[in-house]
Amino acid sequence: MRTPSNAPTATFGLEPAGYRKLLEQFMHAQRILVYSGAGMSADSGLPTYRGAGEHLWTGDVLERVSTLTGYARDPAFAIDWYVEQSHRLLAARPHEGHKALVELERYWDVTHVTQNVDVLLEEAGCADVVHLHGRFDRLKCLQCRWTGNATNADDLRRPCPNCGGKLRPAIVWMGEMPGEEDVNRAGNAAKSAGLVLVVGTPAEMYPGAAVVETAHRAGVPVCVINPEWCENLHYAQWQLFGGARTVLPVLVRDAIARRQAEGQPLPWFLRWLPSWAK
Ligand SMILES: [Zn+2]
Repeated sequence: MRTPSNAPTATFGLEPAGYRKLLEQFMHAQRILVYSGAGMSADSGLPTYRGAGEHLWTGDVLERVSTLTGYARDPAFAIDWYVEQSHRLLAARPHEGHKALVELERYWDVTHVTQNVDVLLEEAGCADVVHLHGRFDRLKCLQCRWTGNATNADDLRRPCPNCGGKLRPAIVWMGEMPGEEDVNRAGNAAKSAGLVLVVGTPAEMYPGAAVVETAHRAGVPVCVINPEWCENLHYAQWQLFGGARTVLPVLVRDAIARRQAEGQPLPWFLRWLPSWAK
């Protein structure tokens, strides 16, 4: 594992010249794709799938709650587990990193693509969020095509309002694919972005990892924000070492300051005017 530089002038392990180049890239970008994973939510106290700290999946729980066969075999166990998780997710609050991303939206056209099933980005005020792995607060029926919102954690225990069948969370389980519309929205955001921020994930899991790779292949610069070096994202132009809660407020503040120092770009209909008329 590569260790962060200890140079006193470094910003989250990045030398000053590299950090300046990153802020420069913000200036060139009109659209930013923020691809977030478990590390983003971990800073709000939610357990991660793996890595340091508490694990969400232990023993055979993974198979019992995140596969169709496991859920069908013992729905009572899985439903109890999800209700307990829902209480934790409902109690979690957005942190300073989420709030920094809302601030970013005031200056850039931002699309969020997240692996997280919580809705902390929306709760903070983020406008355009694609949930590649679904949302814990959406339910769907195992028997019919009914889908709807959960208004509280226990809604999963109720029968389907349409057919009376058993409900399941609208989360993408193992062996399932994300919705086609979500994949397309993520792919379009990747290709049209001027900068990708990968936050709190090594982006190893497919098809999510393909979103970052699509952007990279389209020539979009990639910046990773994660406490550890992500070998899988070795092609990224920048890797900032730190948690989302620590890095994002500083990075967004500096990017906005850089933009304000340059002045706002002229609206398109004024750009053709000769300089003496501006
Ligand atoms: Zn139904």
